[in-house]
Amino acid sequence: MKNIIFIAPPAAGKGTQSNLLKDNYGYIHISTGDMLREIVSSNTELGEVVKNIINKGNLVSDDLIFELLKNKLSNIEGKPFILDGFPRTLNQALFLDNNLKIENYIVIYLELSKDDAVKRINGRLTCSCGKSYNLNDNNLKPKVTDICDVCGKKLVKRDDDNLEAFKIRFDVFLKNIKPLIDYYKDKNKLKVVNVNRDVNDIFREILKVVADD
Ligand code: AMP
Repeated sequence: MKNIIFIAPPAAGKGTQSNLLKDNYGYIHISTGDMLREIVSSNTELGEVVKNIINKGNLVSDDLIFELLKNKLSNIEGKPFILDGFPRTLNQALFLDNNLKIENYIVIYLELSKDDAVKRINGRLTCSCGKSYNLNDNNLKPKVTDICDVCGKKLVKRDDDNLEAFKIRFDVFLKNIKPLIDYYKDKNKLKVVNVNRDVNDIFREILKVVADD
């Protein structure tokens, strides 16, 4: 199985699709956002610094992200993985290829307009176990109001899922996406999946893209 790299605007559903791939095909799900939120929950000085950056909607430093990713990849014993939230910039893409020397991957760009992304942000609830829900999508609502279907914990709204932080996150995405897309197009690694549709249709399309590669 090829490794999968998701690049996407905020709330495009990369976490949800990664979980489906993990549960059905045994991929290792590597989410840099989840790793950072774990650091935030550790209540350390570093956690405080990371929290302030995330909650404003900005990117954390490459130094920290590179270290986290390097450690994680050295612990997965060569199993196929999904990168969810990395790379977000051309510099991060170059790190994957030139420093970590990752091979055998395809890049799937989950395409979504700003208007649709903002609607999703408004309805999104998350669980600390990593599962994400959306009250505006019948397929993504929790079975019991505000409770995670998987682990039974209370769902929360992410601190950066507000309009102010969203605008910055989307601007950061817009600033960085073109160089990333051009880079992966040149390498013949890029696939595009429009995600303004049902979660199961998106999953089917992703499976098709992976199988056809
Ligand atoms: P996500 O869970 O992917 O939406 O990420 C949440 C936040 O974590 C982002 O808005 C950034 O502040 C930070 N973050 C996640 N991945 C990266 C990355 N590759 N580089 C820098 N910051 C990141």
